[in-house]
Amino acid sequence: MSLLESRHISCPYCGELIELVIDCSISEQNYVEDCFVCCRPIEIGVCVDSSGEIQIIARDGNEV
Ligand SMILES: [Zn+2]
Repeated sequence: MSLLESRHISCPYCGELIELVIDCSISEQNYVEDCFVCCRPIEIGVCVDSSGEIQIIARDGNEV
């Protein structure tokens, strides 16, 4: 089992596909990644469950 998995999300602003590298040894993480196309901040939440299933939520970081 590999600890690093790559996944694609689409930017909530411009829709561009962005590659994320997920560290599966961390079950829950939240961070902000700037879109490399439109440079706006994307709030990323990653959950890895005990079977190794990865769930990614990408949100508009400017939303209040
Ligand atoms: Zn974008």
